[in-house]
This record gives sequence, structure tokens and C-alpha cells, in this order.
Amino acid sequence: MALIVKKFGGSSVATPDKMRAIVQRVLKGKQPGDKIVIVVSAMGDTTDELVALAKQITSKTYGREMDMLLTTGEQVSIALMAMAFQEAGQKAISFTGAQAGIKTSDAFNKGRILELEPDRIMEALDDGNIVVVAGFQGITGHGDITTLGRGGSDTTAVAIAGAIHADVCEIYTDVDGVYTSDPRIVPNAKKMKEITYGEMLEMAKLGAGVMQPRAVEMGSRFNVPIHVRSTFSEDEGTIIKEDCSMELKQYLIRGVASDKNVAKITVLGIPNKPGYAYKIFAELAEKHVDVDMIVQSVRIAKEGVTDITFTIARTELAEAKDVLAGIRKEFPVEDILIDDKMAKVSVVGAGMAGHPGIAAGMFGVLGDKGINIEIISTSEISITCLIGEESVDTAVKAIHAHFFD
Ligand code: ADP
Ligand code: ASP
Ligand code: MG
Repeated sequence: MALIVKKFGGSSVATPDKMRAIVQRVLKGKQPGDKIVIVVSAMGDTTDELVALAKQITSKTYGREMDMLLTTGEQVSIALMAMAFQEAGQKAISFTGAQAGIKTSDAFNKGRILELEPDRIMEALDDGNIVVVAGFQGITGHGDITTLGRGGSDTTAVAIAGAIHADVCEIYTDVDGVYTSDPRIVPNAKKMKEITYGEMLEMAKLGAGVMQPRAVEMGSRFNVPIHVRSTFSEDEGTIIKEDCSMELKQYLIRGVASDKNVAKITVLGIPNKPGYAYKIFAELAEKHVDVDMIVQSVRIAKEGVTDITFTIARTELAEAKDVLAGIRKEFPVEDILIDDKMAKVSVVGAGMAGHPGIAAGMFGVLGDKGINIEIISTSEISITCLIGEESVDTAVKAIHAHFFD
């Protein structure tokens, strides 16, 4: 008897036929006594379409109303999936995030799961149901509906798997596993048999969209093995877990990731005195704008001022601009420059520490391709370069070829 959470992404549930195919596959694989929770995303590109619909009303972000709108996508999927199971003779029940006991922080558009009370899920499972839960959503302590950030259905699935102590959380998607790079960019990328939570988290944070970073964090916290695999084939996918085999530990580099959702902001001529960096970043934080790379440089020629460059998600540029307009009124700055056509390319691998050749190799490839590096940042297990968006696919292909071919 197994307890399994299976998550199906948007492309997997894009049409009623695809939903029926999932029902058939789940029922074929189900052993008597197995308990199964299905987490689903909105059908196809529904979430993008709802975002576009809101843009026809306003260019501003009304957080609460946006979440009210976006969560409707997943609600359509759960109802249809539960009906499809029932049509096939299987007892099933659908739950929204709130009904599934998913409590989040108050941050609209990027709620964090604070608590998950799985009693209702467990009762329904004990009653012989397949339980179908809406991904990507939860509810605050005040009863407001929230979303968990784009790609958040992964996090719903892993959080439920953790809360009900599932044997495994299976993430069904349109690729058959985690690859050494996005196979849409690098067609000869290689599928990994397994990868550690740490390396997968770094890949995901640096743009490998196959898993939401918080889902990987959640898997690590509750020690739930995550199996990323294809909806459209029976092949084994990639297992994300704590410890990988010795053979895999020998890799210096595990993957190459990229992220185009990047904007660079430079604030020129800030007073070079204590407290000014704090003012800027505290106000950005208050508006929930996540700052990523930060570089501050003191100008030698002109004393008394400094320049700060930082990057944020391009999708948060409107909020950042509001904050910066406020800052200009508070204290003098020379200028604020914004470049919203930036991207990051990164190499990830737990084995790279103590191998300076990796950084040199990456920078050499970019130099050979004539790609200028604007900012470099490193962690224990990754190196990231900020470059122009127009060059990022070329950079990913060339860096991947350098390390893997
Ligand atoms: P879903 O809708 O099922 O959640 P996503 O589009 O969010 O699917 O994630 C799957 C996509 O992630 C793939 O189609 C692939 O293009 C992309 N991707 C990015 N990096 C990787 C990687 N390293 N390995 C596999 N897929 C990746
Ligand atoms: N439907 C949401 C999105 O497109 C959540 C998800 O698919 O994971 O981001
Ligand atoms: Mg996804």
C-alpha cells in the first residue's frame, strides 16, 4: 500500500482528453489500498491568459484581486478532474487550497505556506477517494485567497506530500526529467538519474523552471523524495533526494541554468554615508521586491558619492520604479538607470568548490563568443554572470558544450 502525491502541470491537463488520459494512467497504476492525492495546475496557458486579461483592465498590480482571479484557473481543473475520475467509476473529490488546509502568509502573489492541516485530505482518502487538490493556492489567517508564485503547484504538491508523509511526490510534466540544461535551449542536454536537493534548489533558483525553488526546499525540509517525470511516457524520470550515488558525486558541474526575468537598476551618485543603502533596500523589501545581485562601487574621482547596481525580477519592475520615485524625493541621487533586457546564465555543481578552473572556463567561453559580463556572483555551488538577454541562449549552449561535450 502506497501513499503518493502526483502533480500534473498545465500542459498535462490542457484538454479534457488529456485529463481522461491521466485518469486512465492513474487508475492503471493504482494498487488496491493505494492512497492517491492529485495536485493540478490550471489548464494549458490559462494563468498567462488571466494575467493578460487583468492587463486589459490595469497596468498596476492589485495583489488581492489578482490572486482572486488567478486561482480560478486551478479551480476549473480540480472540478473537471474529479468529474473525470467519477466518470471512470472511481470515487473522487476536489478541494481548493483552503479546503485542503493550506494556510499561507499574507503576501499576495507570493504567499508562503505557513501551515498545512491535512485532516480533510486524510479523511477523504480513508473514505476511498482520490483527492484532487488545486495547486498554487492557499488562504491567509484572515480568509483571503493567495497564490504561491508562478510555478507554485509544485510547492503545493510537495507540501502535501510532506504533511501526509507520502512515500513520494511525483511531478508529471512535459519533459521526462531534470536535464543538464533546459532541453528547449540545449537539445542535446542529458537527463539526470538523480540530483540532490541542494543542487536542484540552486538550479531552480537560477532559472531552471522545471521545479519551483520553494518546492525543492520543502522536499528537503520534510525529506520527501521528488520524482520529476513525463506525463506522456512511462520512462523513469529524475529523483531529487538527499544523497546521491557515488558516481554522481564525481561531477564538478551538474547543470547550466538561465533566467530571462531580470532587470538591472543602477542608482548613480548616492551620498556615500552610512544608512543610504539601507534606505533603498528597506523600502524595496517593504514592497516585497526581491533584490538579487548587488554591487556598490565608490567613485574615486568624485568623493562623497557612490553608485549601487542591483538586479530584480523584471516582473517586479513596476513596484521597484514606485519605490525609486519615492527615494528620489527623500534624498538626492544623480540618476537612476534601468535596463530591463538583462539575463543571468549560471553553472551549478556541488563539486566545483576548490576548482577555480570552472569560473575561468565559463568566462573564457563568454569572452570567445563576444558576450560582455556585467556582474558576476558566486555561491558555494554556483557561478552566475549577468549578461544581455539577446545573448543568453547562445551563452547557455556554448557553456553547456564546454562542460558537457
Ligand atoms: P509544468 O506546467 O508541468 O509545471 P513547466 O513549464 O513549469 O511545466 O516546467 C517544465 C519545463 O521546464 C520544460 O518544458 C523545460 O523547458 C523547462 N526546463 C528548464 N530547465 C530545465 C531542466 N534543467 N531540465 C528540464 N526541464 C527544464
Ligand atoms: N498555474 C500556475 C502558473 O502557471 C501554477 C503552476 O502551474 O504551477 O504559474
Ligand atoms: Mg511548473
